[in-house]
Amino acid sequence: MAVVDAERLVTLVAAIFEAAGCAPMEAAAIGRYLTEANLTGHDSHGVARVQRYVDWLAEGKVEAGKSVTAIVDTPSLAVLDGHYGFGQTVGPQAVKIGIAKAKAQGLAAVALRHAGHLGRIGDFAEMAAAEGLVSIHFVNVVGSILVAPFGGVDRRISTAPYCIGVPRPGAAPLLLDFATSLVAEGKVLVASMGGKPVPPDALIAPDGSKSGDPAVLYGPYPQGPGTRDPMRGPGAIRAFGEHKGSGLAFMCEILGGALTGAGTTGPDKRFCNGMMSIYVDPRVVDPDGFFPAECADYVAYYKSARPVEAGGEVLVPGEAEQRSKAKKLKDGIPLSDGTWDSIVATARRLGLDDAHIRAALR
Ligand code: NAD
Repeated sequence: MAVVDAERLVTLVAAIFEAAGCAPMEAAAIGRYLTEANLTGHDSHGVARVQRYVDWLAEGKVEAGKSVTAIVDTPSLAVLDGHYGFGQTVGPQAVKIGIAKAKAQGLAAVALRHAGHLGRIGDFAEMAAAEGLVSIHFVNVVGSILVAPFGGVDRRISTAPYCIGVPRPGAAPLLLDFATSLVAEGKVLVASMGGKPVPPDALIAPDGSKSGDPAVLYGPYPQGPGTRDPMRGPGAIRAFGEHKGSGLAFMCEILGGALTGAGTTGPDKRFCNGMMSIYVDPRVVDPDGFFPAECADYVAYYKSARPVEAGGEVLVPGEAEQRSKAKKLKDGIPLSDGTWDSIVATARRLGLDDAHIRAALR
């Protein structure tokens, strides 16, 4: 295991993407967002993706230096095309537009199509919450067919994440942010590189049996670093929450994919994220200022439930991420050997020297 310093990891990842052809601002944003995912405990959407993003850039699957353009622009609605630019560039651009419209109108919706991989959707809800806004995000992953619907064995859905952020004065936002698959694909990726294993029922083999073996998703793959292609495996990830989770995933495809114009997932489609976002200004909805105190009271009431296990605790959405971030900022970010080796191999391939690479280590 390697332990890295967060700020120095941002610098290293930024240097890798500059060497790969991104402008400094875009490279820095990729470094910051990927590192933030590791900090918040979502290694699946963190620097384990460096090698894959660099490969995608080289293959033209994602494009450097793109900006969103508006297809529809009304006071309360924008439909935006991300032109397959890096999600870490076009994602925040779309959110900024949503924030400005919601602040002016009290309510706004933004449909973003053709975004490169948007990574951790919670980043965008946090951006809106920092401006005092509630936000809801329905996302799909076009061209990525990884998940079997409830009652089915074959892949028909993406990991289609869903996210809600709620601002709290003087406290971190309430943040529900998850893939509608039983585990995010990146968690299977991390497990395949020697990181935390996925639950034994997270995947489904073609014969309908449940499994936790990453090879069900990737097919046979090399140990340590090396390409993992989730389209090569025979099986699928299971949708979370039985018929209810599968139904939510379906609606993420319909709203994040069909309504945005990104398209629902399916075979032979170019990879991108579609994201349908709704922004609400609670100050407009709630002129009497009832909402913040009621949220605070409910958080306390919710958390007062007796824990199932002695010493356990009830957490509200977003709390696990805040705790993870505080710990990793202090103690460093642990990366599995497979993840660290894949970063080192990618950095070397792009001509970065070893001293530069090792500077990220604690
Ligand atoms: P997860 O299973 O870790 O669930 C995270 C959610 O559960 C958070 O809201 C968290 O606060 C809450 N939570 C965690 N532990 C808890 C506890 N003990 N008690 C109460 N609540 C708790 O997340 P995931 O499904 O693995 O998703 C990981 C990330 O992947 C997300 O950030 C998601 O946006 C991202 N994602 C992105 C894409 C994409 O295409 N861009 C696709 C899929 C997932």
